[in-house]
Amino acid sequence: MHLLTLNCGSSSIKFAIFDSDVREFLRGQIDGIGTAPRISAKRNAESIIDRSLEDANVSDHGAAFAAILDLLRTGFPDISIASVGHRIVHGGTQFSQPVVLDKDTIEKLRALIPLAPLHQPNNIAGVDAAAAAFPDALQVGCFDTAFHRDQPWINDAFALPYHYYEEGVRRYGFHGLSYEYVSGRLREISPTHASGRVVVCHLGNGASMCAIDNGRSIGSTMGFTALDGLPMGTRCGQLDPGVVLYLMQEKGMSAHAIEDMLYHDSGLKGLSGLSNDLRTLEAAATPEADRAIDYFTGRIRIELGALAAMLGGLDAVIFCGGIGENAWRIRQSVCEGFEWMGVEFDARRNRSGDAIISTDQSSVGLFVIQTDEEIVIARHALELIGQ
Ligand code: AMP
Repeated sequence: MHLLTLNCGSSSIKFAIFDSDVREFLRGQIDGIGTAPRISAKRNAESIIDRSLEDANVSDHGAAFAAILDLLRTGFPDISIASVGHRIVHGGTQFSQPVVLDKDTIEKLRALIPLAPLHQPNNIAGVDAAAAAFPDALQVGCFDTAFHRDQPWINDAFALPYHYYEEGVRRYGFHGLSYEYVSGRLREISPTHASGRVVVCHLGNGASMCAIDNGRSIGSTMGFTALDGLPMGTRCGQLDPGVVLYLMQEKGMSAHAIEDMLYHDSGLKGLSGLSNDLRTLEAAATPEADRAIDYFTGRIRIELGALAAMLGGLDAVIFCGGIGENAWRIRQSVCEGFEWMGVEFDARRNRSGDAIISTDQSSVGLFVIQTDEEIVIARHALELIGQ
């Protein structure tokens, strides 16, 4: 019996196959859906495929899923998928635990599309496609919002008329599967730090930070939608709502045009005018690229201070995500100058790619942990099957 996990992002699908003991059998992804699609996969850390799909007309997530199915059926005809676990970005107020995805649940998730327009439709398309391909498999949804659902009320609310809170206008927070994984890993690496006050910086094309007190999220930088908080590849991050009013009233922009700009043309891409991709910006080293990087690291530092204040102090910081795990310059710009908070940063360890990048004397531990949302989904799905 095998379990398939699907993690459908805005232009990618990550997939993995595990056996019933949560041992990884295969892992891969399709990137660049709609632009320059490419499939890659590894089995036992060895590449089994890595090629462009530009000749295969992979213009949407349905076509990308078909390419994954093709790989599984031709390369691994003997595997039998008994369950499919999905990363679902938004679980609203209702879903604070993984659930079996039946018709009724999927309709409830569809109703949340306006709250995560970039991701939720792709997540649901993945559920529909998997149900069609594996009609007998149990489908399980694991929510990015769930990890934050018991954060204290003041970190969950906006200061709007209260009925909006009751209607669900809340700070949901996202990237919960990643936070769950890295805080669990920290418990294995350093239980003392894990039982203290931890800030996790999940820095990728999407980016957020979370304040975790003894394993429990007490607040995060993302809010009602995945737009708030840190600037991201193409998303704006924190924004005075007055800017939106100005754009509508004075610039005559429609809600749709503003949405498009805030989700697709802002963040690193908007500030640099060059790219949403940090590697491209680092390589360009133009004033425009530097401006975008400075803004990004500046906001991370501001949020680190704010989340540490929320926690009443700081025992550890974890970096994860494509940027957090790989971009040593970003980690350096974030960590240097935080001595006043007890942070002693080790520049040599940081550049060498060590997992611990604080000095031995630092009263705040600085960790780089490779995140793994797929294994969190697999564990939850197997737990539900077991029940
Ligand atoms: P993710 O969304 O987690 O896959 O992260 C994607 C981001 O990580 C992109 O902005 C990449 O440019 C960035 N990234 C990945 N590897 C590196 C690297 N070695 N150095 C700098 N940035 C990187």
